[in-house]
Amino acid sequence: MEELQAPAIVAKDQVVVSGSASNFVSDTVHVTERDVVFNCSHCEGEIVIDKEGSGLAVHCPFCGSELIVPEYSGPSLRFLQTATAKLAREVEAARQAPPPTSYHLDRLSPEELKRRQTALEGAFQDTQVQASEIKEHVHHATIQLHRYQLKLEVILERQSEIKAELDAIREISRTLKDQESS
Ligand SMILES: [Zn+2]
Repeated sequence: MEELQAPAIVAKDQVVVSGSASNFVSDTVHVTERDVVFNCSHCEGEIVIDKEGSGLAVHCPFCGSELIVPEYSGPSLRFLQTATAKLAREVEAARQAPPPTSYHLDRLSPEELKRRQTALEGAFQDTQVQASEIKEHVHHATIQLHRYQLKLEVILERQSEIKAELDAIREISRTLKDQESS
């Protein structure tokens, strides 16, 4: 089996081992979209590793135990939470920033004005493209969420049917046992 000596390998975008011991969440841990985040099965320390490390053996940076890095299955919850908190702070800051009272356009020469206009038009188009991309993601994720909710409902429905039949069987068994013993 290929083996990586954990903290020694910190090549950029390769296998990066970092993390925090249990009950201690370090702010210095950088989690990216392509990281696998998992807990050491011995000391519960949180280990962050690039997805390229999936399936490889590493040593826990906290307790030294040898661990196999789990398969990558999309952005980790840890990443999503961190990234979402960061975005929320950005949105909050943007909301609180006062709108500009003046653009000081009278200080610009006609050429500068023209350049500024072209740059702004380009930037405006970029935001339109980005916004429609994100709307597409939101649409997709909303449908996916709805699908998961329906799937969950089907499973819970099935679960209660199974439980009802099980209860009925257990009831009969109990009655039979009581008859035998009496
Ligand atoms: Zn450990």
